[in-house]
Amino acid sequence: MDFNDSPEEAEFRETARAWLSAHAPTAVTGRSTRHADLMAEAKAWQAKKADAGYAQITWPKEWGGGGGTPIQSVIFSQEEAKFGVAYGFFGIGLGMCVPTVMAFADEATKKRFVGPALRGEEIWCQLFSEPAGGSDVAGLRTRAVKEGDEWVINGQKVWTTGAHYSDFGILLTRTNPDAPKHKGLTMFWIDMHDPAVSVKPIHQMSGSSDFNEVYFTDLRVKDSQRLGAVDDGWKVALVTLMNERLAVGGSTGPNYAEIMELARTVNDGEEPALNNQAFRQKLADWYVLSEGLKFTRFRTMTALSRGQTPGPESSIGKIISANQLQDLSHQAMELEDQFGIIVDPKISPMEAAFQQSAMWAPGLRIAGGTDEILKNIIAERVLGLPGDIRVDKDLPFKDAPAGR
Ligand SMILES: Cc1cc2nc3c(=O)[nH]c(=O)nc-3n(C[C@H](O)[C@H](O)[C@H](O)COP(=O)(O)OP(=O)(O)OC[C@H]3O[C@@H](n4cnc5c(N)ncnc54)[C@H](O)[C@@H]3O)c2cc1C
Repeated sequence: MDFNDSPEEAEFRETARAWLSAHAPTAVTGRSTRHADLMAEAKAWQAKKADAGYAQITWPKEWGGGGGTPIQSVIFSQEEAKFGVAYGFFGIGLGMCVPTVMAFADEATKKRFVGPALRGEEIWCQLFSEPAGGSDVAGLRTRAVKEGDEWVINGQKVWTTGAHYSDFGILLTRTNPDAPKHKGLTMFWIDMHDPAVSVKPIHQMSGSSDFNEVYFTDLRVKDSQRLGAVDDGWKVALVTLMNERLAVGGSTGPNYAEIMELARTVNDGEEPALNNQAFRQKLADWYVLSEGLKFTRFRTMTALSRGQTPGPESSIGKIISANQLQDLSHQAMELEDQFGIIVDPKISPMEAAFQQSAMWAPGLRIAGGTDEILKNIIAERVLGLPGDIRVDKDLPFKDAPAGR
């Protein structure tokens, strides 16, 4: 493991930091990075990054990217996070959907979509999860039936982040219920503004609506909107999900340093909460976990720096950080007492940041693989333990429990 930037990496970090200092808009911490009020400034920031080659650092220059390396992309994300301007609107599109389009669409389609997405002019969403297909996404039921040169799509997706502000989406459908569940799926790109697509935002406990239910009623798409071969959508979906794994970078919210600062300033009885022995014990645990996470992240960065792809051990990072964030945020809200209800960062950025992370942490433990699924991955692919039992793997989908 190499803890230091190489000379080239240090130079890139310095250049990125200088550019961010000169150009980044002033951020207000403690609010959702996907708050609707932020859309205009997020789009302007994305266009500015695109002009400077920082919008998608690893994409080839001919597609508007920076022609850089994955480690440079991680370094830029780390520096950008410090400025509080890492907006959440474009990550799914640029990190997962558009790379899938780039891998499977024809040249004309790529030319049409890549530039506007890169500049933040058009936003994409990922339409995979369904009521019967979440962890087991291959259990999905949304049907696509071929009629001439078109496909007719009916069904429902759920938890679709950003569907309510997205222009396009990649949609995984079932095209062959007679085949085993992974072998009868087909992927399409769709226009989210089509009247046959109905988007219903889900109201969250934080008060915001980041994700949605999406219904398709006789949605007609051209066969030319297909990504990959008919019934080969699982292969296409894996490309999308593999790209999700590279999403390593800055921190996901307040950590032990922020709660330590809070505990210095609030009293527990007559004394600062920092003097409370039980609290100090917890603080020590969070510190140890944070250090472990830091070294795990270094391992990922070392792999990227050497041109390797990070392995399944990166699953460890999400389990630990999401659980720690939930624990730490709850403890912070306890310390804040009645001030813990403050949600407006303009009144108190620190209170709002902890409330924000307390509301967000449970979702983080589910999105992109639940705790249990990640434990299965670690058990099977890191520790080499026997695999999860998959009784319906080879059954025709229509005969499997999810297909009935
Ligand atoms: C914040 C957020 C954003 C999201 N954004 C998107 C998006 O943009 N697009 C999209 O398509 N989806 C999105 N999702 C959906 C997400 O991918 C699913 O919620 C996730 O895969 C879990 O699926 P599920 O909710 O159906 O739970 P289920 O799969 O029904 O799981 C229910 C419970 O059973 C456990 N479980 C399931 N299978 C196993 C197993 N084999 N072994 C042990 N335990 C198991 C799970 O861990 C969980 O505790 C998002 C979710 C969240 C929370």
